[in-house]
Amino acid sequence: MRRLSEHTYVATEFQGCTNGCVATPDGVVVIDPPMRPTSAVAWRREVETLGQVRYVVNTEHHRDHILGNAFFPGTVVAHELTRRQFLESLGPVESVRERVAKFGPEELPLVADYRPRLPEITVSEELTLHLGGIEVRLIRMPGHLPNNLTVYLPQEGVLFGSDNLFLNSLPFLNECLPEEWLRTLARMQAMDAETLVPGHGEVSGKEAIEPFAAFLREITAQVQEGISQGWTREETAERLSFLDRFPIEPHSRHLAPVGHRLSLLRLHDVLTMGSGAPPLPL
Ligand SMILES: [Zn+2]
Repeated sequence: MRRLSEHTYVATEFQGCTNGCVATPDGVVVIDPPMRPTSAVAWRREVETLGQVRYVVNTEHHRDHILGNAFFPGTVVAHELTRRQFLESLGPVESVRERVAKFGPEELPLVADYRPRLPEITVSEELTLHLGGIEVRLIRMPGHLPNNLTVYLPQEGVLFGSDNLFLNSLPFLNECLPEEWLRTLARMQAMDAETLVPGHGEVSGKEAIEPFAAFLREITAQVQEGISQGWTREETAERLSFLDRFPIEPHSRHLAPVGHRLSLLRLHDVLTMGSGAPPLPL
């Protein structure tokens, strides 16, 4: 775990999304706990040396952001749609055990009594936690999903961008809203934060936003161009590729080809049917 500012920390070493925490004099806020049970338990021990865990924030409902709730104390806070999608995204407990077993035999004892921990407090647009003199602002900022929460700490100059930020990491666009996403990136650009923690990839400064926005604009324009030439969604997915433009996390290697294909199909769908097109979850 790495310290980013006086009160914020990040862990980028675990499988799945990045994990954050805010350590205040009155307790700790965890942001997206690790999904792998042994990692979650190990990290909880580390985090607890900074104080008692008071809140766990899920910045979205994808499995890597929510599975680890079960290994943490504290009140779970998330967007209302994250709560609504929670159980479907996590899958039945049996499938959680099967998935976790693939990480290694040492994981299984930790999920023998696994119980999903749903958000107990939900946010629709904005909510601020005031803990130990630190303001932790949770702000809905759509893009990767309609319900991504940005966690913004104005006093620390730190912003946890959830999966709206893939910084030097293959992005997943398969449920995205491209126009909203670009607006969200412009909004982040205007926020007073010098340290950006992506949902996946490398902790960066604001200079990392524009290249990612440029990629989104470019791939969207390419899909639009294909559509204007009469490409079907399948042709879009076959003729375009951005797979070799980004490093792929070792653990998502098996997901990358299918995520990439669904991403292109999703862009085609949104550009032909509008934002009401059904998302294409992995
Ligand atoms: Zn995600």
